Amino acid sequence: MSTITASEEQQVVDQVPKQLYVGGEWRDGAKGTLSVEDPATGESLAEVADASVDDAKAALDAAAKAGPDWSRHPPRERGEILRRAFQTIIDRADQLALLMTLEMGKPIAESKAEIAYGAEFLRWFSEQAVRIDGRYAVAPNGQGRLLTMKQPVGPSLLITPWNFPLAMGTRKVGPALAAGCTVVVKPAQQTPLSMLMLARILEESGLPGGVLNLITASSSSETMGPLIADPRLRKLSFTGSTEVGRKLMEQASHNLLRVSMELGGNAPFIVFDDADIDAAVQGALIAKMRNIGEACTAANRFHVAGSVMEPFAAKLADKMGSMKVGRGTEAGVEVGPLIDGRQRQKVAELVDDAVGRGARALVGGHARAGAGYFFDPTVLADVPSDAKALREEIFGPVAPVRSFADEAEAIAAANDTDYGLVAYVYTSNLGRALRVVERLETGMVGLNQGMVSNAAAPFGGIKQSGFGREGGPEGIEEYLETKYVAVNV
Ligand code: NAP
Repeated sequence: MSTITASEEQQVVDQVPKQLYVGGEWRDGAKGTLSVEDPATGESLAEVADASVDDAKAALDAAAKAGPDWSRHPPRERGEILRRAFQTIIDRADQLALLMTLEMGKPIAESKAEIAYGAEFLRWFSEQAVRIDGRYAVAPNGQGRLLTMKQPVGPSLLITPWNFPLAMGTRKVGPALAAGCTVVVKPAQQTPLSMLMLARILEESGLPGGVLNLITASSSSETMGPLIADPRLRKLSFTGSTEVGRKLMEQASHNLLRVSMELGGNAPFIVFDDADIDAAVQGALIAKMRNIGEACTAANRFHVAGSVMEPFAAKLADKMGSMKVGRGTEAGVEVGPLIDGRQRQKVAELVDDAVGRGARALVGGHARAGAGYFFDPTVLADVPSDAKALREEIFGPVAPVRSFADEAEAIAAANDTDYGLVAYVYTSNLGRALRVVERLETGMVGLNQGMVSNAAAPFGGIKQSGFGREGGPEGIEEYLETKYVAVNV
């Protein structure tokens, strides 16, 4: 990777529209602007519009107005707009990746991977737009016909987190637009720039005004509350923390909104004694270190068979300890900064808590001094069962390792959490693999692989990790209602 100059950085930031996108127009926010920070330096990158409640209502007005036309727009054309946007994202991957690294911190190579992954949702749902179908059946008594049809849910509010600034948006925008829903999108205030570029690209791809509206705001509760209470809204899709998800569900209950919740995780990574240990370490690095550990799917705790615990932990510590930490724009950097000081403080507290209870830091264990929110990749061995790091989402480059005695203990430990998003299992025994997978209380499992994300697969959790699925054939169903027609013949 050649060195990225300050003027190249400035150029990609300058290209981003910084206003609100409402009814096909870019306009200022009534509350002025809010600052977007580079987490590697703590310095301001850009100012974007700060929406008021009235701005947010205008976005819903626009979505409601555009709804009927968009729902009748030919599915093929809806798909073709998404397909053009997919291609534009791929064509501009280098600039978009740099922008993402600047606002979120992850290394450029990882931003490129997210750009490819995020764009893929637009391609996948461009193909699904023309596969929305229904059913025709003869009633069991032979007297009538049962017809079902799928129709768009209606205006949808899409709220996304900062950790995957583009993909968390395309994962919702793709199926919503393909289904014929109009949307109001609200990205996290730390990382609005990638989503603003997505809105611009969809506009350039021919999306009619009002179909997608984008609000950036310094107060999400103040601006989103009135939209969730508005009877014209029909759907809320949220990705973020379980705590906020719970609050939003309460608010959504008043209007009985259709709701999808992609919430926090506490993924166990189980390594059995029959596993290929080098492959397990490789998978562990991906499951733990992708996105600097700031992924809902991040392996949060490692449960390793007692007989292979030492070599596994030593190899993992060796690999994690040799990863280059730095600003994501620099050549060779594999670990960027955490998103902000608060997140870094939380990670430090979880490490201190585990060490205070007797865990051993095989590598790392500390925040880095200086500008930015860097934390050293950390492996903790002999982590006691009461350590907070085993219960709470770490969201940082920290791998707590514990041993287990047998299969039953491994499964019990894996399921001993309120969350249920994903689990990882490493074993070479097929029977054991299937037995364990069946008993894991999660929405997804990585079997002998450290990553599950794929636009063609249903992503989502159970328990306190939420409900609903994004991606795969299931993804578009979240934005469709089924209407049944009883036909008298
Ligand atoms: P967060 O604090 O819950 O925020 C997520 C989004 O909700 C942001 O846009 C935020 O806006 C907004 N928000 C916060 N409070 C709100 C309120 N009262 N009303 C309306 N909107 C509100 O989560 P985060 O820290 O950004 O993201 C990290 C979390 O997301 C982790 O728990 C992670 O596991 C989860 N996550 C889950 C998945 C999944 O698919 N299951 C994927 C990625 C991330 P502001 O920016 O203005 O606060």
